[in-house]
Amino acid sequence: MRAMAFEQVGRPLRALELPVPKPGPGQLLLRVRACGVCRTDLHLLDGEVEIASPPRVLGHQIVATVQARGEGATRFAADDESRVGVPWLGWTDGDCAYCTSGRENLCPNARFTGCDIDGGYAEYALVDERYCFALPAVYTDEQAAPLLCAGLIGYRALRMCGDAHRVGFYGFGDAAHILTQICVWQGREVYAFTRPGDEQAQDFARELGAVWAGSSEEPPPRLLDAAIIFAPVGALVPLALRAVAAAGIVVCGGIHMSDIPAFPYEILWQERVLRSVANLTRRNGEELLELAPRAGVKTRVSVYPLARANDALADLRAGRFSGAAVLVP
Ligand SMILES: [Zn+2]
Ligand SMILES: [Zn+2]
Repeated sequence: MRAMAFEQVGRPLRALELPVPKPGPGQLLLRVRACGVCRTDLHLLDGEVEIASPPRVLGHQIVATVQARGEGATRFAADDESRVGVPWLGWTDGDCAYCTSGRENLCPNARFTGCDIDGGYAEYALVDERYCFALPAVYTDEQAAPLLCAGLIGYRALRMCGDAHRVGFYGFGDAAHILTQICVWQGREVYAFTRPGDEQAQDFARELGAVWAGSSEEPPPRLLDAAIIFAPVGALVPLALRAVAAAGIVVCGGIHMSDIPAFPYEILWQERVLRSVANLTRRNGEELLELAPRAGVKTRVSVYPLARANDALADLRAGRFSGAAVLVP
């Protein structure tokens, strides 16, 4: 099978011809239909998040059909109709203090798709069926893919904002474009912060229902109840703390961020909360995949053939498309 694999930090992905794997007990052999490209993949390429044993096939937003099932795998039928989604969380030990308290996202032994386990930048993928999701039929393969990380981890971050009415997003890419639609449907107000001068992203945010869109260096027209920072830029943390009212919540939504500059205590004072969001639980996935069609979420995708994975990653880095990039084998 054809695959695009990470070999070394700082080098582009390499096209490899690999044997099609055989499913072991509890595993599914998936035929990949589409796989979303995520900012985390840039952090992996740059060595900011480590891949312990390369070469590794990246890709953790997999939409696929079940080609074959290993012994004991019965959750999904093996046919062309049985479509599944595969997220970043690929395996957990199931018995640590986090797993047994509903926080499997923090399992210290977790294995992540496209990082510790080969992912979906390939024609086939081998997965543990317990970590797969059934997908809503209303989405095409390409449109479903960005729900599986951008949507899902974004949704976990949004839950941390509680019932915040005015919500700001710093970085208006794949996650924010999905969350904006959910927030508007829930009756919240969305404030979109982009790179200074990125009018394309600001227009896109307004088109999706944001009440205000502007530069991340500007204060919003009124104080927010919560903000989620998707851009991997530590300097945004003090800006976001200044943009939220007393008791406001600031969530850092990425797996990696540049250093956060020192800031005066007064911008955290008055019970403001600063926290991160890590990974996902299967419960988050089930909730989001149930909510997204009800909220009428439509994803905007730029589709690339698998062989052009490096172009998709370069375009993501440069902010050359709105919404999300998806690879199709
Ligand atoms: Zn991701
Ligand atoms: Zn665990």
